[in-house]
Amino acid sequence: MNNIELKQVNTGGCCEPAAKINVSLETSLNKELPIAIIGAGPIGLATAAHLANIGERFIIVESGASVGSNILSWGHVRLFSPWQYNIDKIAKKILENQGWNAPDLDQLPLGSELVNEYLKPLANLPEIKPYLLLNTKVVSISKKGLDKMKTDNREKSPFVIYLEQHGRSKRIEARAVIDATGTWSHPNPINADNVWTKEEKELKQYIYYGIPDVKGDHKNKYKGKRVAVVGGGHSAINTILELSQLNDDVEIIWIMRKKNVKDAYGGEDKDSLEARGKLGIRIHQLVDVGQVKVYTPFFIHQFIKTNDGIAITGESEGNEVTISHVDEIIANTGNRPDFSFITEIRLSIDFTTDSVVALAPLIDPNLHSCGTVRPHGEEILRQPEKDFYIVGMKSYGRAPTFLMATGYEQVRSIVAHLSGDFESAKKVELDLPETGVCSSNLSSQSFVQSCCEAEATKC
Ligand SMILES: Cc1cc2nc3c(=O)[nH]c(=O)nc-3n(C[C@H](O)[C@H](O)[C@H](O)COP(=O)(O)OP(=O)(O)OC[C@H]3O[C@@H](n4cnc5c(N)ncnc54)[C@H](O)[C@@H]3O)c2cc1C
Repeated sequence: MNNIELKQVNTGGCCEPAAKINVSLETSLNKELPIAIIGAGPIGLATAAHLANIGERFIIVESGASVGSNILSWGHVRLFSPWQYNIDKIAKKILENQGWNAPDLDQLPLGSELVNEYLKPLANLPEIKPYLLLNTKVVSISKKGLDKMKTDNREKSPFVIYLEQHGRSKRIEARAVIDATGTWSHPNPINADNVWTKEEKELKQYIYYGIPDVKGDHKNKYKGKRVAVVGGGHSAINTILELSQLNDDVEIIWIMRKKNVKDAYGGEDKDSLEARGKLGIRIHQLVDVGQVKVYTPFFIHQFIKTNDGIAITGESEGNEVTISHVDEIIANTGNRPDFSFITEIRLSIDFTTDSVVALAPLIDPNLHSCGTVRPHGEEILRQPEKDFYIVGMKSYGRAPTFLMATGYEQVRSIVAHLSGDFESAKKVELDLPETGVCSSNLSSQSFVQSCCEAEATKC
């Protein structure tokens, strides 16, 4: 049962008594140790719900002040999948048992609604709340008393997890680890070669990495400014649509590496995720009426701060071009997983996508254009380090096509495996939203082929 207590281990040689945390750790037998979930986003919390549902011990560690803290940073953005695909089935069952009323399953929630109406009530359940540590960052994970090279006794040794909480270090042990830390907090740079230059680090006060909220937190930041939005995906489109609410009060420049701006519009009215298709339609219109000035293909190499603002220099169709007088930059150039805290763990990561290696052939954007992927579970996500899993957005590495419904099935299967229900772990099923046309430049034949490969269940 989940009646455990977490003992703090002072790692800094200091002698103050351990801070009281309402969970205790027993180290005598590995099987009595909790399963540690890192990250309380939708996938980490769904893992907690599945473990609670079968009475397995767990602890869930979240660096933010709230569950879903990555999502809250884009809380003003509307999701493109309706509630029915955004709620884990077991989480829903446990919530409903305690009187929760599900939102209208056909509606598209805002990010903030997903957190406030689903993730927070889930985290507050008595089955989960006592085992959730907020404001606690995982900084390292290792195997007890071993370094990465040591094989003897490795599988029997527990994991040790180093945490930072309120400026102090703590060390806990776990029998298995599920890394659900996402990728949102590790954005790519705006440099076209994906390299962090000294200048980009120094000029960070002029660059916002994410989707600004022009009616909320960033109310006055962009008014009257010349703003360069960098990136060609849905986040960049969301950013430009946000900025466009300022009408003539903002000058929008859109910089991307794509051959043609049309490649950024996506499936538009052919996208079977209607809300996502609409984003493409709206941005297409804004470009056509000249509200957005597009530079593409444009490869940013450098930028400097001048007396007249920022000058962005890059290459466009073989010529060096400078875009001057830019006041603010918004970077939407994708995200990458953070492996810095799991360098002592034996991992198998794909060299193209940075995803879990066995997942790569299913999601590599060089091969697939569709957002859906064949359902997969524990077997595909298994790492060389026994009982260590990377799940959720992070399991896809740099590939941007992850959907929550995929993650819910991932963790259902892993939890079944860790609790010894191997048959259920192997039986992976998934009811995904049809993501349809994701790339408008595919011929219908290659579209069907690519969707068939990706969506084995649908073709
Ligand atoms: C703008 C936007 C719109 C999207 N719309 C949809 C949609 O409509 N439908 C859909 O299915 N998917 C959508 N997604 C994709 C995806 O489902 C979400 O990004 C989802 O939040 C991923 O869930 P996750 O739990 O894997 O990661 P996250 O939600 O990113 O959660 C990771 C958590 O881990 C915490 N964390 C990170 N590092 C540490 C650490 N070292 N220690 C402790 N905690 C840590 C973070 O604070 C965070 O709370 C969208 C993504 C974006 C960016």
